[in-house]
Amino acid sequence: MKDSEMLSFIQGLPKTELHLHIEGTFEPELMFKIAKRNNLEIKYADVEELKRAYSFNNLQEFLDIYYAGASVLIEEQDFYDLTWAYLTKVHEENVKHVEIFFDPQTHTDRNVSFEYVLNGIYKALEDGQKQLGISFKLIMSFLRHLDEASAFKTLEQALPYKDKIIAVGLDSSELGNPPSKFKNVFKKALDEGFLTVAHAGEEGPSEYIREALDLLKVGRIDHGNRCLDDIDLVKRLAKEQMPLTLCPLSNLELKVIKDLKEYPLLKMMEHNLLVTINSDDPAYFGGYMNENFWGITKALNLSKSQIAELAKNGFKASWLSPNEKQTYLKEIDLYLLNN
Ligand SMILES: [Zn+2]
Repeated sequence: MKDSEMLSFIQGLPKTELHLHIEGTFEPELMFKIAKRNNLEIKYADVEELKRAYSFNNLQEFLDIYYAGASVLIEEQDFYDLTWAYLTKVHEENVKHVEIFFDPQTHTDRNVSFEYVLNGIYKALEDGQKQLGISFKLIMSFLRHLDEASAFKTLEQALPYKDKIIAVGLDSSELGNPPSKFKNVFKKALDEGFLTVAHAGEEGPSEYIREALDLLKVGRIDHGNRCLDDIDLVKRLAKEQMPLTLCPLSNLELKVIKDLKEYPLLKMMEHNLLVTINSDDPAYFGGYMNENFWGITKALNLSKSQIAELAKNGFKASWLSPNEKQTYLKEIDLYLLNN
């Protein structure tokens, strides 16, 4: 099959995104524009120099640049513009529903108000729903390199906004920061009615995935690649149909894998794992949803029905209502039939 035919199949497929850090959608052009507006310096001379710095050997090298970039976000309008830029981008890629992360501590630790961050992001999401037809849920992530006391403080700040935040998550430097470090704050979040998710098994061991399931009671595992080291865990994840939000280009850029050809996606699908495709931090990792789908399609020689299956998994793994899910699943079946 011709590349162009597959690309247009991917383009037209209705998609959802479940693993996306809004701060990771900060494109260099917008970063310079907002820095200028806020009279802040960026340590790179121009957009080109900044783009050249986007080459990483591991998660930590990426995080260092990611936090430097996020530091120019100050006003509510900045968070609105960041989120709106993401939504218009994925709208072009036929993404219908997003469940995105934001990291309040990245901003509140710089004395930016929690309210500005939340309101800016949320207003853009509401406008995206109205103007672009993209439905959404918002997930607040705790930074795991910070301590649990800081996560508790963040949870307190979020309590007045329970109607706007559906879940809490856990991200940032994984190794040495196991889910068990946050078991008390997740317990409190669950008691307050939040759903829970956590990054686990990206760089960290499969044991972290077990901890996320057993101690944090997560409804999805973000990444989860390392489950393959533990066959009993794989069986459990398959049996529970626990979603894994995979991020192929992110894994490639951060050297979790050397080549997309070794991406264990087919093996995971053979094990009947509920795997979904996502972009993680697309401004930094070379691509949004379609680029991720295209990357694995090309590397693993996926068929149209396998690609459609992955798109369906995204809707199944989402927090849409059963009726909404059915509508999208039928739409994808019909799309596959006609394309
Ligand atoms: Zn992530």
